[in-house]
Formats: sequence, structure tokens, C-alpha cells
Amino acid sequence: MTLKKDKHFNTRVIHDGLSPEKWEGSTLPPIFQTASHAHPTAENLSQTFGGKTTDHIYMRLTNPTNRVLEQKLAALEGGQAAVVMSSGMAAVTNACLALLRAGDEFVTGNSLFMSSYVLFANIFKKYDVTPRFVESTDMSAIENAINDKTRFVYLETIGNPKMDVPDLAEAAEIAHRHGLPLLVDNTMATPYLCCPLELGADIVIHSTTKYLSGHGDATGGAVIDGGTFPWANSGRFPDFKPFIDRKGPLAFTDKVWREHHINFGTTQAPLHSYLTMIGIDTLALRMERHMENALSVARYLRERPEISWLNYPGLEDSPSHATAKKQFGGKGFSGLMAFGLGDQETSFKFINNLKMIYHLANLGDCKTLIIHPYSSQYLSFDEPTREALSIHADLVRLSVGIEDVEDICYDLGQALDSL
Ligand SMILES: *Cc1c(COP(=O)(O)O)cnc(C)c1O
Repeated sequence: MTLKKDKHFNTRVIHDGLSPEKWEGSTLPPIFQTASHAHPTAENLSQTFGGKTTDHIYMRLTNPTNRVLEQKLAALEGGQAAVVMSSGMAAVTNACLALLRAGDEFVTGNSLFMSSYVLFANIFKKYDVTPRFVESTDMSAIENAINDKTRFVYLETIGNPKMDVPDLAEAAEIAHRHGLPLLVDNTMATPYLCCPLELGADIVIHSTTKYLSGHGDATGGAVIDGGTFPWANSGRFPDFKPFIDRKGPLAFTDKVWREHHINFGTTQAPLHSYLTMIGIDTLALRMERHMENALSVARYLRERPEISWLNYPGLEDSPSHATAKKQFGGKGFSGLMAFGLGDQETSFKFINNLKMIYHLANLGDCKTLIIHPYSSQYLSFDEPTREALSIHADLVRLSVGIEDVEDICYDLGQALDSL
């Protein structure tokens, strides 16, 4: 045991961002359920609007409870600032739009979270923005897709349900070589497993709805800024000038917040920030259990003859195993896996046979959750798009919870027995 002054991750998870002295001794922040804040003088409100104080004005702009979560998330990810928002999709949308103008392009993976894919492929297109989709683990494909119009590279730490893990350090190097920032959606790994900013990424995005809050009780998102990308020197971001003049290294956070978040009204409810903070206290414990259970479940399912294939980055035969092991420091491989049951009819029978595992559209909850993405989230997608996104009719996605693993395996086993 080495004793040192700098706190370790699990301690920081619990202690970072707390100021009981400001909260009458409470070790939890109050839920500031208030739309607006009174100011002592006209001068003070004017200075606050001018960014000269950090006082609060109006909930759509900032909120004291939300600010505590922002400080906690920035600290856990090793960033300089964070903005919390009403959902993970609000964070994805605001972070990308802060970087994009009509005519721009960006490079991204082809196994994105479903709504991120829809946003990029269908909605951005209407505004003359072109996403270049490539295999997220193919670094030369990422580099080849970059051109003069590219504004950023966007990846997910673990793609879903493809379970592909791109090498973020390598991707950051490629992006930086071309004067571009790397944005990483780190929802699936959480800072417990991976801190993309430490690997060279510039901006981290989260859906706090998943593992961070952890209990399926709060939605939320966050954009975290490493504060190190050279916006002024890259040559690709002339439109950042007013934000650089105002906030220097935090120009991106300022742009996300000032130009998009507060005007789109993607406000986080302080109750959701509060619940998310309580969830984060047990992040490390939950992640350890999710990952230990997931590895056992993957090994159990792989032995079952009914399962035609199974992809979990924790298994040595997974194409992403080596990168995941290196990138996640051997701590584990998160709690999500996908497997095949032959066809949709068998997948439906299997899901309907389950007695304990919940059938719903979410992941990262304490409870084990299952879904057949082809017939649910991807129902309205045409066949070539489903094929391109690796959404097959036989695919079932399992988010392994923190129950006793014997009970998870028992439920899966009895559902397979009755096929
Ligand atoms: C769920 C999820 C999102 C979207 O988050 P919401 O909170 O549902 O809006 C974005 N990215 C990933 C990887 C997700 O799993």
C-alpha cells in the first residue's frame, strides 16, 4: 500500500466537488429548485451577465446543484470544465453543433449509439453538414476521410451493439496531426474504466443516464472540456475568435454553453443532477460488479449451444479484446454484450421466456436489461442501413446488472432451455 497526498480515483469519486461549508454542513448539495436568483445590486447583475462573476442568473443558464455535478464530472474525467444538460443527446447535439457550420464535415465511426447516428446521418444532412462514417477501429480509414472541410473526429469508447473499441490515443494523434479535436462519447466505459482526455482526446461527452447515475432514475448528459486544444493555432476555427477572446483555453465550453445550450434550452433539472451525484458515489463499486458479472455471463452463454455467436470485449476472441485490455488498464470491459440466437423469432421467444431480466430500452442500470434492437430501436431503419450498422435480426443485447450472477445465469439458462 502506497500512501500519498493525491487522492485515488475511488476517493475522488466520492469527495470531489463537495463544499459542506457552503451547505450548512450538509455533505450533499441542496436541490436548488429555483428558476431565478435575486441579485443585491443592478451592478452585480450586469457584471454577472458580463461573465465577471460566477453568480447564477436563471436556471436555463446555470444552477448551483448542476454546477456541483459539473465540477465533479470535470474532475473525474481530468477536464477543466463541464456543462451538464438534460440528456446525453442534448450533450451530443450541442457539442457537435458548437463545432459545425453549413458545408462542414466530420469523421465518425459506423457503430454509433442509435440516436447519435440518426442525428448525424439524417438531421445534420438537412443543414448541409456531412458525416463521414468509417470503421471506428480502422485508423487509416479515419485519416483518409479527413479533408479541408473536416472539423472534428468523433468516436465512442465502446460502440454498441458492435462492441468495437477504437484506439483513442492513436485517433487523437491522427486528429491533432490535421489540426482537429477528438470528441469521445465515454458513456459506455465511464471514467472508472477510461479517461479519454488522458489518452489525448479533447472533449468528452456523457449520457449520465446510464452507468454514471446507475439506477435508471435520472436522465442527463454532459460535455467535458479538456481545455488543451489549441483553437487559436489550428487554423481551422476562425469562428472561435470571440470565444477565445472571452475564455481563452475554455473557448469550446463557452461556445457550447453560450451559443447552444442556453439558447436551445437543454436545461438539466437539478433533481436529476442530485440523483446522478448520489449514483456516482457508488460508480466504482457498481462498475467492478457489472464487469465481474458480465465476464461470468459471457463465459456461461458462450458454452450454450443455442447461442450462435457472442461479442463481449472481455473475451479473448473478441476483435476488440487487445485494444480494450490496453486502453482500460486491465480493469475490465464494461457490462454490455451482444449475442446471436439464429433469428428474430427465436430471439423473441427467448426474451419472452425470461422471468427476472427486464425487457426495456436502457443500459447501465443496476438491474440486468435485455433488448432486441433490430425490432425496437432500429425498427424504422431500412435494411442496408441496419446492415451497415451491424444490426442483425438475430442480435440480442444484454446489459448485465449487479444482481447475484448465479441468478442472472439461471434466468438466461431457463429461457434458453425452453426454446
Ligand atoms: C444513451 C446514450 C446516449 C444518449 O443519452 P440519453 O441520455 O438517452 O439522451 C448517447 N450515447 C451513448 C453511448 C448512449 O449509450
